Amino acid sequence: MENSRFIAGQPVDVSTGSIRVQRLLCPNASVMTGPGTNTYLIGERELALIDPGPAIPAHNSAIIEALAGWPLKWIFVTHTHGDHSPGTAALKALTGAQVVGLSPPEGAAYQDHGFVPDRVYRDGESIQCDGFSMRLVHTPGHVSNHLCFLLEEDAILFTGDHILQGTTPVILPPDGDMTDYMNSLEQLRQMPLKALAPGHGEVMTEPVQMIDTLIRHRQRREQKVVKSLGALNSCTLNELVLLAYDDVPAHLIPWAKKTLLAHLYKLQRDGRARSDGAENIEECLWEIM
Ligand SMILES: [Zn+2]
Repeated sequence: MENSRFIAGQPVDVSTGSIRVQRLLCPNASVMTGPGTNTYLIGERELALIDPGPAIPAHNSAIIEALAGWPLKWIFVTHTHGDHSPGTAALKALTGAQVVGLSPPEGAAYQDHGFVPDRVYRDGESIQCDGFSMRLVHTPGHVSNHLCFLLEEDAILFTGDHILQGTTPVILPPDGDMTDYMNSLEQLRQMPLKALAPGHGEVMTEPVQMIDTLIRHRQRREQKVVKSLGALNSCTLNELVLLAYDDVPAHLIPWAKKTLLAHLYKLQRDGRARSDGAENIEECLWEIM
């Protein structure tokens, strides 16, 4: 075996532009996952992997093949949704890799409750790997246990579902939170980044521009929610979503409702909207303040 996975000076994978980052696309394309989940393999000798994806045997085999006999030492998991973390267990069993991530929030929906990290990790902690280091950046918003990972040597940020290419993430309240999401975006905007490597879609090479676009998109949506609330006066979530998200195709409305609720909770917290407090969220009436 050669003494490195690198061919001198050549990117391992042109889609990432980095000599040490290889992208493997999981065959789980869908409305929610776009072209599928991106799994990233990083390093030269002892390797790290980001997001094993769902437990799909073909993808697991593709990962093992890409390792090409090199040891997998670290499995980094951005968050514990079904399209990101369930492949972890089989991969850990095969390789003995250390699992880095945050435990799923208790009782939250769509979560892989079987996910167990090897220890508790802190925001800002940097993990020294073989020839590179990975910094943990806690980015709650999409869900509360979301991490981005910064490959410090290349200034590439692995963004999971916090920043996607080609679409915007759903915010899933009550665990997901719009105020947290906006704050997480502002935090990333201050970081000197060269590229964003998302959980779904292509690598993005203009991080600040992308983050600004996302912030503006959320602010414009919030304004539209306020305007729609004003126009409808007292309304349910179902009534409001059709006006505030009239630009969204019908099949995505159930997901838009979740992000709309996250906007409403933020507006309530900001003192700009109020609800009648009905326990059934479908019957709850909202109005502008
Ligand atoms: Zn997700």
